[in-house]
Amino acid sequence: MADAEEPEKKRRKIEELTEKMAVDGGHGDSGDWDGRWNHVKKFLERPGPFTHPDFEPSIESLGFLLETCKILVIGAGGLGCELLKNLALSGFRHIHVVDMDTIDISNLNRQFLFRPKDIGRPKADVAADFVNNRIPGCKVVSHFNKIQDFDESFYRQFHIIVCGLDSIIARRWMNGMLISLLSYKDGVLDPSSIIPLIDGGTEGFKGNARVILPGMTACIDCTLALYPPQINFPMCTIASMPRLPEHCVEYVRMLQWPKDEPFGEGVGLDGDNPEHIQWVFQRAHERAADYNITGVTYRLTQGVVKRIIPAVASTNAVIAAACSTEVFKMASSAYIPLNNYLVFNDVDGLYTYTFEAERKENCSACSQVPQDLQFPPSAKLQEVLEYLTENASLQMKSPAITATLEGKNKTLYLQTVASIEERTRPNLCKTLKELGLSDGQELAVADITTPQTVLFKLKLTS
Ligand SMILES: [Zn+2]
Repeated sequence: MADAEEPEKKRRKIEELTEKMAVDGGHGDSGDWDGRWNHVKKFLERPGPFTHPDFEPSIESLGFLLETCKILVIGAGGLGCELLKNLALSGFRHIHVVDMDTIDISNLNRQFLFRPKDIGRPKADVAADFVNNRIPGCKVVSHFNKIQDFDESFYRQFHIIVCGLDSIIARRWMNGMLISLLSYKDGVLDPSSIIPLIDGGTEGFKGNARVILPGMTACIDCTLALYPPQINFPMCTIASMPRLPEHCVEYVRMLQWPKDEPFGEGVGLDGDNPEHIQWVFQRAHERAADYNITGVTYRLTQGVVKRIIPAVASTNAVIAAACSTEVFKMASSAYIPLNNYLVFNDVDGLYTYTFEAERKENCSACSQVPQDLQFPPSAKLQEVLEYLTENASLQMKSPAITATLEGKNKTLYLQTVASIEERTRPNLCKTLKELGLSDGQELAVADITTPQTVLFKLKLTS
């Protein structure tokens, strides 16, 4: 029996010890005990073979990291937990974290700042509390928000922004926001307006880390063609001639949900809410029956509504480590940053590769070159819409198209508000000529992938 008690005793002792460490760092209340930052000082206070050519060892760099440098971490999930831990232990103390999600039981295997008691609470809040309690002197400020809740003045306050997101839309929005902060004088970029963006991404056993200097190096939209194309169904098919079970689910998701608002006014469809999925499933099933379509199941419904991404803890750890290292290099100016795209893959063996992603000359996000749209006058608005969503370098999600016609701002098509969608839907089947659009006409397109409206110039071909 004594043997059985031993591990229990050991466990309690470890618990007591870690409890003590969590309270005072194990070294009193002062925060900075002797030798606390020795591991960081080794990089900052002595020369080395890999340092930046202009690097001069100094004792001031550490002070900048500890006291001044302000970092924004976007996402407090798999990558976010790792990033916060790494940054806090590297000496960064002024960290903000933004995340709109709450903790789910399925997160706990890898999002190690969370415990079973935290389920249902905002990730940003719990992660910030954990790090602040565990690492003396660290001040993580949490924001249980969407990134779209903040404007320029919020983002401008940071020295560096790190993204640990699972959404391409959010990434593109963030990219667009940082591009909108750039200021140009006589066409020359003011370097002080640049906020570096370090972006990490993982999917299963694959991941990437990249360094973006907005306006100077390839941005997210410059390399959009690297992302796998999304499957889009034309609105006409979804609305009037469904053939596949997916069309029925998409109909309910895109048209019936916003119209019926089954869970109250303004309540969006939540892929993690079983009641929501059940509702969509039943409506899609009814619609499928009307059109003699088989194959609508609960599982398919969830699959269509929510793109499920597998998560691997070790991939997150590797990618977050790479991103944190880049933040440290950038903040300290002690090392040359990654140039500029690292891929990692351990599906079969282990593979990493770094290459320089190039800027796209006419990138719709960062090039400042007006975008051309070439269509014959007989093309229908539906075709323009399909181009905006399906073109590999645009990949918009639900573009809203407006034009100035006879001095008036006219919405040609808008999908996100049910009543306006219904009113503007007939335009989709009209030709550009019928809509009164002429050669050289400017079209303003708004989309959730960017905080700014993208201007296109219509080039009518004959
Ligand atoms: Zn770009």
